Amino acid sequence: MEHARLCLKCRAPLINKRSDAVTCSGKCRSQKWRALKEQSVLIPFRLSTSLHVGLFLAAYAANQGIDAYLTSLVSNHLTSNI
Ligand SMILES: [Zn+2]
Repeated sequence: MEHARLCLKCRAPLINKRSDAVTCSGKCRSQKWRALKEQSVLIPFRLSTSLHVGLFLAAYAANQGIDAYLTSLVSNHLTSNI
């Protein structure tokens, strides 16, 4: 007997679905996509002390932590260049 493929989100068997389907429904597909978008990666990089102080002060002025401030900078930069 062939093993049924399972929905990547809710683990329901994918019966009568396209051969390339990985989720059982639009609801599971959008939840899976949202979960993927919210995953993050840690990027270690070296920054000069003076740049770090500047970054810290800019983040402080924006009332954000360095992580959130840098994430919004990178996100704005990337989306403004599309
Ligand atoms: Zn599902």
